[in-house]
Amino acid sequence: MQVCKKCVLPETYPGISFDEDGICNFCLEFVSREKEEAEGHFTDETALKKALEKYKNLKRKYDLLVPLSGGLDSCFTLVKIVERFELKPMVFHSDHGWDDPTATRNVEKLCKELDVDLLIWKNDLKFMRKLFKIFNESDEIDVSPCYACGNMLYLNGLELADHFGIPLVINGYSKGQAAMMFDKEKSQDWYGKMINTILETGDREFFETFTKKWEMLKKQVIYSGRADLENPIDSEKILFIPFFVFKFYQTDKEELKRICRERFDWQPMKVSYPARTTNCEMIWLNSYRDLNKRNYTHYHDEYSTIIRAGEMTRDQALKDLELNPPPGLLERLAKEIDVDPEDLK
Ligand SMILES: [Zn+2]
Repeated sequence: MQVCKKCVLPETYPGISFDEDGICNFCLEFVSREKEEAEGHFTDETALKKALEKYKNLKRKYDLLVPLSGGLDSCFTLVKIVERFELKPMVFHSDHGWDDPTATRNVEKLCKELDVDLLIWKNDLKFMRKLFKIFNESDEIDVSPCYACGNMLYLNGLELADHFGIPLVINGYSKGQAAMMFDKEKSQDWYGKMINTILETGDREFFETFTKKWEMLKKQVIYSGRADLENPIDSEKILFIPFFVFKFYQTDKEELKRICRERFDWQPMKVSYPARTTNCEMIWLNSYRDLNKRNYTHYHDEYSTIIRAGEMTRDQALKDLELNPPPGLLERLAKEIDVDPEDLK
């Protein structure tokens, strides 16, 4: 199995090719951060704070919605939003059924410490079980069960923002997680593949719930540069900002950890995949399936982006991406969503 010598993408990754030094085309085509910044993102906090001012004057209970997973990236983002930008958030945590209790405690502790409103959305477990079953059993290798789930949680956020009339969402995704958002072609392709996968199961009810949820996407505008914040607010739309786009965002995990520990006694998950991150148990099973069927997880994608940006070493990424599940865990998770672990090979 050939793996890129610079990032961690293997030869099974769609569209990959390698040069004679064993470097993949994605690394070779990588657009540096400097170029992104030149395209017009805010580069200092004070200017961004000023641009966000107008969201305070909407005479609404909340200035913005902040999804909070309980991991480092989202916790750090919330601290910044409240203490540095002085915005009043509605904080939203999505519990899809396999949430790590440590993550939920982090969420509760931080919201208490910052004195902000927190809404925990407990997802319909029957629906989520079915979602994990369908996408784990599927032979459609481009779509990870984690991707299907992640979209549902993301759409919960948009639905809430819409319900409360909040025109702004700022999310503490890591740089790699959000890469998909900017790749419209790929996400359309994957949406089509998800729909086909669901149609093949013949489950009409699931299909309808799934596609209905997707309608909310029409309302979203993904932040593409400072003009999006400088133009007047479009109250029909919801502006979505992945916080990592700003230069002052901290991506050094050890530094984030230090800040979050100091601020509200943030605790790491006891076991997680990839190591040192995430807040969800089901990732173990989804990643097991993805590694068996295609030799990479969506974290390989995410970490490759972070490596290219020079914010993680390849050795560290490879170490974090080794899958060593605790004994019995995969079997238990498979049972909970009614799949045969043998089918995931
Ligand atoms: Zn590469």
